[in-house]
This record gives sequence, C-alpha cells and structure tokens, in this order.
Amino acid sequence: MSENVKVVVRCRPLNRKENESKCENIVEINEYAISVLNPSARNSQKKMFTFDSVYDMISKTEVIYNEMCYSLVESTLDGYNGTIFAYGQTGCGKTHTMQGDGSAKDGYNCGIIPRCFEHIFETISMATNIRYLALVSYLEIYNENIRDLLSDSTGIMNHPLKEMPGVGVTVPTLTTQPVINAKQCYYWLKLGNKNRVTATTLMNEQSSRSHTIFTISLEQFQGPSSSSVSSIASGDIMGGIRRGKLSLVDLAGSERQRKTGAQGSRFKEATKINLSLSALGNVISSLVDSKSKHVPYRDSKLTRLLQTQTTTRLYPHCVTLAGQRIFQINQKLTKIQKMLNFVSI
Ligand code: ADP
Ligand code: MG
Repeated sequence: MSENVKVVVRCRPLNRKENESKCENIVEINEYAISVLNPSARNSQKKMFTFDSVYDMISKTEVIYNEMCYSLVESTLDGYNGTIFAYGQTGCGKTHTMQGDGSAKDGYNCGIIPRCFEHIFETISMATNIRYLALVSYLEIYNENIRDLLSDSTGIMNHPLKEMPGVGVTVPTLTTQPVINAKQCYYWLKLGNKNRVTATTLMNEQSSRSHTIFTISLEQFQGPSSSSVSSIASGDIMGGIRRGKLSLVDLAGSERQRKTGAQGSRFKEATKINLSLSALGNVISSLVDSKSKHVPYRDSKLTRLLQTQTTTRLYPHCVTLAGQRIFQINQKLTKIQKMLNFVSI
C-alpha cells in the first residue's frame, strides 16, 4: 500500500430541491483540488483545498473504490487493520457512497461496503495456501451507547467496551456472524439496517445522529485453500497466523449544533454525538503533534473502537490511527486535519 492514509472529497450533484430553488454550484473541481467560493462575499477569493483526490458530481463509486479503497482492502486480507469512513453533513452523500442506493445489484450505484464484500470473497476464493475465517459484526453508537444491530432489538441497549490484552478494544457481547461469501455479508448488512430503522420512531433524526460501524474480521490460517469457514474447527482459532480487520464507518452528520436548532434532550444528544466527532478530531490533532504524549482515544466510544487492535500486536513499531498503519505520521494526519477543516467551512 503506497499511502497509509488517504483523504478524498466527493461532491454530490445538486438535488431536486436545490435545483428548484435555483441554488448555484459554488465549487470548482480538478483532480486533486477543490475551490470553494463564498457566495455571500462575491469579490472574495476562492478558497482552495487539496486532497489525495477529488471526485465530481458525475463520479462513480466504482471508480472511487478502485482508486482509493482497493489497496486498503487488500491489506486487510494481508493481516492489517483498515478503516474507511465517510464524514460530512447530513444529506451530503455518506450513506449513498458507503452503502449505495440499494437498488443496483451490479455496478453503477453499488456502494463501497458491498464492493468490499465482493472484493474480499473473490480474493479468498482464489487463495491457494491460506484459509480464512471471516466474521462480521454491525453496531451503532447513539448517544455514546453501543447497540448491536445484528441481534434482536430486545436485549442490551448499551454494550460495554472491554480492553483485552493482545486483542485491543472489543465489544465482547456483540453478535459476530461467520460468513463464507459476499451474499451472506450483504444479508447481515441489510438485517442491521432494518434493525436500525425499526428500533426508532425518529428514524431520520437518529440515523443522522448516530455512527455505524460494520466490521469484517479476517483471520488467516495456513493450510490448503478453502474459503469454507466450516473447515476451520473453532479450537484452531488461536492458531491464526494473522488477523486483519476492516471497519466501514458511516459517521453521524457533522452539522454544527446551532444550525440544527436542537433543544432540550435533543441538544444533549447532539452534544454527545459531537463528542465522538470532536474526539476524533482531537485524536488526530494529538497524533499530528509530535510533542503530545497523550492520545485521547478514551474520550469517546468511536475513537476507542477505531483505535488499533491486533495490528499493534503484529507490527508493534507502527503508530496507528483508526486501525491503519501510519509511518509518516505528521504528513499523513495533516491531511485528515485539512479535511476536517474543509468540511467545517
Ligand atoms: P447522508 O448519508 O450523508 O446523510 P445520503 O447518502 O442519504 O446522505 O444522500 C442524500 C441524498 O442525496 C440521497 O437521496 C442520495 O441518493 C443523494 N446522493 C448522495 N450522493 C449522491 C451522488 N454522488 N449522486 C447522486 N445522488 C446522490
Ligand atoms: Mg446517512
């Protein structure tokens, strides 16, 4: 993997409402930069931001996947941890990019998450001397509570986090499901989405205020090729030679509190959600700051969950963020900081 952290921006097209009210496009895009015009200050200079890549209104998720996600997913098959997350205001296209619009089986609108499933199991089916055990889980963080999206809606509403020696931060009570093909992954993704919706009456509000993490753990075993989980006895699990994990994160909307006009309990809720997002920013800042000795992973559930787990054990020399390897810390993390600044303009 040539780059350990990549930050890209995708612009969605104006929607019908924006077109009807004759909204103007105020961004200009080229391959690596996006220029934004402040419409209320006509004569001001455009602000330019550069990223690893910028995708325009007619970009396809397929291209974004191939250019930006493919190598990361390959590395999780090699035993590294990787995270893909979508950040931005409600309505900017996070779920569209991560999950797709749900209608297309094949190409055009198929999201990054289903593409990961296809990619992982295609690689597994071609592996010759390695067997894989693949497990999926799906959780939601709402109000700093962790909810299991793969279990019945009854049961624990706030799953505890545990720090396990040699494993890292886990949610031991979370349902994990073994999977042997992309179709099964998709089944669990859909089921989790359904659980997410039916458990709340304020679905839209909640879904824009909660974070979801779909995780695929991939444990490798040496041995004759097989993609079949049933061929691995559970007693073998400790004998895995490498374990990689892919976390696919759809973050809560990054809109600022005062814009949403939330009050009372809603305000409290939004503050907690902002807590996870601001904790993410703080973690990044302190990793960038070489003088900072303390990285505040523990400040929120989100940052604790995205903190590196098994990779540290296998590659103890790496400093990691959000499950990814980062060798040139400052250079790479500054990119994320820039992105956080960009989406908050
Ligand atoms: P978010 O999850 O960030 O709140 P959504 O993914 O739900 O936003 O997107 C909001 C709306 O915009 C949806 O109707 C979605 O289909 C549409 N949309 C988002 N991104 C694109 C895109 N790149 N091309 C076409 N439509 C898009
Ligand atoms: Mg969404």
